[in-house]
Amino acid sequence: MKKYIGLLIVVFFGACTENEPIEEKGLKIVCTTGMIGDAVQNLADSTCTVNTLMGPGTDPHLFKPTKQSLDLLSDADIIVANGLHLEGRMQDILEKMQRNKTVIFIGDAIPAEDLLIAEGSEFIPDPHIWFDVSLWNKSMRFLSDELRKFGVLNEAKAEAYRNELSALDESVQKTLSEIPDERRVLITAHDAFSYFGEAYGMEVIGLQGISTVSEYGIRDVTNMVNLIVSRNIPAVFVESSISSRSIEAVIEGCEQKGFQLELGGTLYSDALGTEGSGAETYISMVDHNVATITKALK
Ligand SMILES: [Zn+2]
Repeated sequence: MKKYIGLLIVVFFGACTENEPIEEKGLKIVCTTGMIGDAVQNLADSTCTVNTLMGPGTDPHLFKPTKQSLDLLSDADIIVANGLHLEGRMQDILEKMQRNKTVIFIGDAIPAEDLLIAEGSEFIPDPHIWFDVSLWNKSMRFLSDELRKFGVLNEAKAEAYRNELSALDESVQKTLSEIPDERRVLITAHDAFSYFGEAYGMEVIGLQGISTVSEYGIRDVTNMVNLIVSRNIPAVFVESSISSRSIEAVIEGCEQKGFQLELGGTLYSDALGTEGSGAETYISMVDHNVATITKALK
């Protein structure tokens, strides 16, 4: 009997050295949006493999996972999503996956009193929480706590990142203060910027609702043209992940009324920029947007 036990021990330890221990292999983390992927890269330790499903220019409201994305999701140890129905067409899949693996919805970290309610609805929260840097930082604390539970939080890196976000929040306030009060109006293709407006004192008007699933109508364009002309608003903005058609229609409408409306530039709203765009991380995306808005409106 003793012999057998000895043999069993040898087999057991032999098996252990053949298969790498889990700590060395790290965890596979799959993120939905680029902003979340960037956050996880800044918080998790280097043993983790981080994959992001939605690349530059991808609209999360319309994103349907491909076969490759589904494989990544089912192979993941941890999935990190925004939630609050941002990933509208993935919600069912994510909820199903939650039954047998960890799915972290970082939107869950936001206290109800900090959530904005979508215009025209009574209870649907606006999912674009990353536009208020201090709110995003709150969700980073939550995400850090979750990663710590799995032993994959890089404490020093995470603290440095969260300090960087605090500094970013202050610099956004400071830069935007250059825009005079009467020009603090941000007009974009869809209602992504409500948290931005709330946090930094800008009036925000989108042609489409908070989701890009609803289409804008000709009446929306006419109303927008009338508003821009009557308030003498100098510029409007297009978004990288959304068709610029609606905003172009507004510019044309203003032209027909003899009003010169400028295109203030491209804002990165629901997706990070491509390599070399200067908006390939969350921090550079915020900096790019704030610089673009300030230059066009001040
Ligand atoms: Zn959006």
